[in-house]
Amino acid sequence: MACRECQEDRFKSIDLTDGIYCKFECENGHKNNIILQEWKFEILFEMALMALKDGYTREAFSSFAASLERFYEYIIELIAIHNGIDSHQFTTTWKLMSVQSERQLGAFYTAYLLHFKEAPKILPKNITEFRNRVIHKGYIPTTEEVTDYGREIFKYILHILKKFDLHEYMPAILKMTQKTRKALNIDYSYGLICIVPVPVGLKHHSKHMIESLDFDNLLKSRKEFEVMKGSFE
Ligand SMILES: [Zn+2]
Repeated sequence: MACRECQEDRFKSIDLTDGIYCKFECENGHKNNIILQEWKFEILFEMALMALKDGYTREAFSSFAASLERFYEYIIELIAIHNGIDSHQFTTTWKLMSVQSERQLGAFYTAYLLHFKEAPKILPKNITEFRNRVIHKGYIPTTEEVTDYGREIFKYILHILKKFDLHEYMPAILKMTQKTRKALNIDYSYGLICIVPVPVGLKHHSKHMIESLDFDNLLKSRKEFEVMKGSFE
């Protein structure tokens, strides 16, 4: 990350940790407080792409799988907040299912059904079975298998996101963002940054943007990004 106060672009490498907030001090003693603009599922998806690019297939796989689970959470909350549910009430309810992914999946299907009045599309059965084989049985997937898996997850996420008109849901999205910042209790200045390169971050879910996204281009662009980063060193 670059210091917000130093004039020169001097980058400091810091750990990406859980939560969307990080702080660091630059060589000149400036204190930086940074809030990431990405949702958790976007960060996990990005980590999966990077792991896949670097050849860590199991790590890529589990990050794709985790990204999908956090995506379900994002959508459940978005539907709840859009329907006027108080965020405190939502958090209290979420805690009842926060440790069991099967409960979360059930909540996602039900929230979707109640909101859109139609059954949600589901992932192909073999995708779910494959996930269990990798996550629970220690199966080591090939690059091709993980690429196919990532492509399916990507297609699924975009299919669901397409149902949410960006303009219509923006008030709910802003409320969710404010809630997260409030929870951080930050009473001093902070910077906002995006760590997922645009325009391929999943957050830009206008219909036009979604239709232009392609998993294989995304993966390819990460390779180019790496080459670009290398040229700075
Ligand atoms: Zn500085």
